[in-house]
Amino acid sequence: MTSKNPETIVLHAGHRKDAATNAVAVPIYQTTSYQFDSSEHAANLFALKEFGNIYTRIMNPTCDVLEQRLAALEGGAAALAVSSGQAASMMAVQNIAHAGDNIVSSTDLYGGTWNLFANTFSTMGIEVRFADPADPESFRKLTDDKTRAYYAETLPNPKLEVFPIREVANIGRELGVPLIMDNTAAHGLCKPFEHGAAIIASSCTKYIGGHGNSIGGIIIDGGNFDWEAHKDRFPMLNTPDPSYHGAVWTEAVKPLGPVAYIIKARVTLLRDCGQAMSPFNAFMFINGLETLPLRMERHSQNADKVAAYLDGHAKVTRTIHPSLMQGEARRRADAYLKGGYGGLVGFEVAGGIDGGRRFIDALKMFYHLANIGDSRSLAIHPASTTHSQLNSEEQLATGVTDGYVRLSVGLEHIDDILADLEQALAET
Ligand code: PLP
Repeated sequence: MTSKNPETIVLHAGHRKDAATNAVAVPIYQTTSYQFDSSEHAANLFALKEFGNIYTRIMNPTCDVLEQRLAALEGGAAALAVSSGQAASMMAVQNIAHAGDNIVSSTDLYGGTWNLFANTFSTMGIEVRFADPADPESFRKLTDDKTRAYYAETLPNPKLEVFPIREVANIGRELGVPLIMDNTAAHGLCKPFEHGAAIIASSCTKYIGGHGNSIGGIIIDGGNFDWEAHKDRFPMLNTPDPSYHGAVWTEAVKPLGPVAYIIKARVTLLRDCGQAMSPFNAFMFINGLETLPLRMERHSQNADKVAAYLDGHAKVTRTIHPSLMQGEARRRADAYLKGGYGGLVGFEVAGGIDGGRRFIDALKMFYHLANIGDSRSLAIHPASTTHSQLNSEEQLATGVTDGYVRLSVGLEHIDDILADLEQALAET
């Protein structure tokens, strides 16, 4: 399957028919383990002399199709499916950073990732330095010889200001630091590897699945970062790994291509920490992924119309959407998002925190819940929910104000979406 077109890749990459049954839909291989052909076969698999299935915590044929499909969609070398987007973020960093190391992250982050970085990583001795994404050079200023990665989200909410991927990736490549991108809100619209990112760590729970029914995550290796050229910065990939008979990952997997990073994540982190995706969830994501390009197009069209409607509404003090931005923020949106600005819209309701709550309580069709990327329209008031564990300074740093409401605009008819917003705004 050689197409470069996303619409074709999501239907065909990584699976044509099942080898055993000719089934066209990807079978759910709901098994923990796989019979070895012989003791020699078993020994070869464990020694990585031969690749094949051993145990579903580490690999599974259903997950494998999802991994191949998402790697193909993003133009990466290989991928690893994991149990959640949070697991993907955590493992993407842990795979190259340990106690005493640091990463430099954009301040514009999902609240869960902010907590992981600001609080949990510090208990493990990994320091996270926060940089202002409006100023790419701030990443350079925070870099030292212990910096193992840069980290950012392509289309972070609530600010919805697209990250300067190329600008920061270029600084990283100059200094030998890979850029990890969370592309959760922009799969199908932005391809971070084309702009110099090295790794993608995303949630499948949102637009990839698209139907609000499964939690999962994906790490994709761009296969475009020369880990060996920066031996001192990446000892975990360039020096003998005692947990695998002294394997040096950049050398051990060379015959398989530029996949040292992702193989190490699978055979050490997933083996040891166990955040595996279930085959059933992989099946759900494969189904969702089939319509991702179509859905992103319609999500984007509907969100554009919602933003235009809210902009200038008497009960709305500010609307946040790339289509309404100007200057550098708009340039980045147009440079990095192709085919639409995505399904997220933010706005501030007149009346602050009470106005925000009244609006949410008055919604009839929009669901009030903590998710994005569902086919249904969703709304949330971050200050009292997703971002409530952040102090007010941290909330403001990530762009959350008291009256801010986040919409994940769904695939319903636009007339019904606008009618629900209209009647709820009338109640504020
Ligand atoms: N990244 C982003 C941008 C998110 O919005 C989320 C969840 O909302 C995550 C990561 C974490 O994903 P998950 O809920 O699958 O762990």
